Amino acid sequence: MGLWAAVQAERLGIDTLLVDAGLLGHGASGGLLGALMPHMPDKWNAKKQFQFDALVSLEAEIAALEQQTGLSANYRRSGRLIPLPKPHLREIALGHSRNAEERWIAGERRFHWKVLDRPPQENWLDAAAGESGFVHDTLAARVAPRSLIDVLAASLHGARHVRVAERVSVDDLDFERKVANTSAGAIAFGHCILAAGHQSFPVLGRYTGGLARPLGQPVKGQAALLKVDMDPSMPTIFRDGLYIVAHEGGHVAVGSTSENRFDEPYSTDGQLDVLLEAAGQLVPALQGAPVLERWAGLRPKAIDRDPMIGIHPDHDGLIALTGGFKVSFGLAHRLAAAAVHLVAGRQSPFALPDSFLLANHIRVASR
Ligand SMILES: Cc1cc2nc3c(=O)[nH]c(=O)nc-3n(C[C@H](O)[C@H](O)[C@H](O)COP(=O)(O)OP(=O)(O)OC[C@H]3O[C@@H](n4cnc5c(N)ncnc54)[C@H](O)[C@@H]3O)c2cc1C
Repeated sequence: MGLWAAVQAERLGIDTLLVDAGLLGHGASGGLLGALMPHMPDKWNAKKQFQFDALVSLEAEIAALEQQTGLSANYRRSGRLIPLPKPHLREIALGHSRNAEERWIAGERRFHWKVLDRPPQENWLDAAAGESGFVHDTLAARVAPRSLIDVLAASLHGARHVRVAERVSVDDLDFERKVANTSAGAIAFGHCILAAGHQSFPVLGRYTGGLARPLGQPVKGQAALLKVDMDPSMPTIFRDGLYIVAHEGGHVAVGSTSENRFDEPYSTDGQLDVLLEAAGQLVPALQGAPVLERWAGLRPKAIDRDPMIGIHPDHDGLIALTGGFKVSFGLAHRLAAAAVHLVAGRQSPFALPDSFLLANHIRVASR
């Protein structure tokens, strides 16, 4: 989120210092999955439209940055497969298919929620997994998280307006003096975009009166990366919170646990083994594949679940940009553009759903 904000600030010519307590992209964003999955196409609303527009536009955004940097983010609109184990799920999926025909339209481009009898590819999702068929969604995509971070960071090399300071942590914001007290000393600011992942919530809480509950919480997730000789264009498989994402270079990511309570934030355990076992049942080619990496991170989940963006009601120099929870990668470029426009005193170029606004989350946390 912070890297995208810096990229958007450079485009608008806003002098910016991007400060990270660690190294860029070593928070929740430095993971393995990078699934870019749309919401269901039924019960259409402003949030679904925002996400649809973001998912469609990300392709060109990434292509432009790749061209600028000469690096690849390993992005591909490879789609998604969802097995349908029960007949009633097929009926629901057929309804969603009609919804997608009405809603998943971007100019000349149309995306589909197809209901199939068999998986479209051999040697990938086991046909036995979908007794009542399969959904094939053609809007979903994936990106390699670490490659995208490298592209974003490289795009800032030689930037005219943005500087980057790693290993500098912000300890405190003094709104009277407009100074951030950091591990590298005091830094004056006009506006501060707070994109500190789950750590944004306690910081925002410190500057917000009347809260009955925290503004958000970390939710731990575990994932693994396997080495499999696999066509990288295979669609992402999704079933009951289990994702199997084919990446370039014979890499397949499997995730993710969703843990509200945990003792060890960054370690992996038997819960990940359970996911790997389930993944092997859905995709027999994964059985016995070497595990290259096991990884855990903390997702930022805002109190009202949706992303959290907007100017703080009591401190107009503070702008929240966090709470992407499980969908940050598909939305961050547009949320960051909105945040940077707010800094510039301009209207957001995209209508922000009410449920995303910081003011909404504060209202919910104040009850
Ligand atoms: C296992 C797992 C799988 C996931 N899969 C997907 C997926 O497939 N698709 C998807 O879209 N999302 C996925 N997510 C969620 C996604 O990774 C997160 O929502 C996203 O990375 C959050 O990005 P962020 O920039 O808000 O936070 P982070 O990436 O955590 O960045 C926050 C940054 O703020 C810095 N920071 C914190 N405090 C301070 C401070 N006081 N001073 C200075 N710097 C500070 C940190 O060092 C860090 O670099 C997954 C998450 C997990 C854990």
